[in-house]
Amino acid sequence: MNAHELLHTIMQIRSDEDHLQQRRILSENYEWLEHFWRYNYGHNDDSIYRFITDKGDFYWSLDIIKEYAKRFVEIECVGSNKRQDYSQNREIARATMYLRYSCNLFGENQPDCISIGCRGHKIGTGFCNRQAAHEWKGDFNPIFAFKALIYIIRQVRNNLFHGHKLSLEQPQYSRNVELVRLASHATEILVEFLVESEKL
Ligand SMILES: [Zn+2]
Repeated sequence: MNAHELLHTIMQIRSDEDHLQQRRILSENYEWLEHFWRYNYGHNDDSIYRFITDKGDFYWSLDIIKEYAKRFVEIECVGSNKRQDYSQNREIARATMYLRYSCNLFGENQPDCISIGCRGHKIGTGFCNRQAAHEWKGDFNPIFAFKALIYIIRQVRNNLFHGHKLSLEQPQYSRNVELVRLASHATEILVEFLVESEKL
């Protein structure tokens, strides 16, 4: 993308007020959450994992958290900014399939990638299946479920802030808007319930 194209993209995104607002909320919330886990669980990259282990039972007990987990995995698999075709990486694919198939969020009617329209280059990774769920964890565990949700939120955030393709073309634009909205709302819940999580 050259400078002219970038400017055009920035102006388009700025004209979409709700999306702009959700991008900013996600950015800020993630910053605050990262502050929290680094301050409380150590100033290194493991702090997010220790936060998840400590808070997973609490957060997974909230219906609203399960609802967001569900919404993230009933749409096309979240891709990675680190892959050239923006297909999903192994870790996020496993997290996604675990939430879809192993966490009892859908009862008998689990969505599958073909019927929800996960695109060919993503299905082609070979990760869009139940086997990937077992590679995350063999059975249900709320800590691993919460970890899967957090890793997906982190991926959406990383895609925004580390150079994801800024597509204005449909349907990719609407899909990005939806992912940012979900991640933004989910981080609102995480922040909102932090104090309560301390009471345990
Ligand atoms: Zn998929």
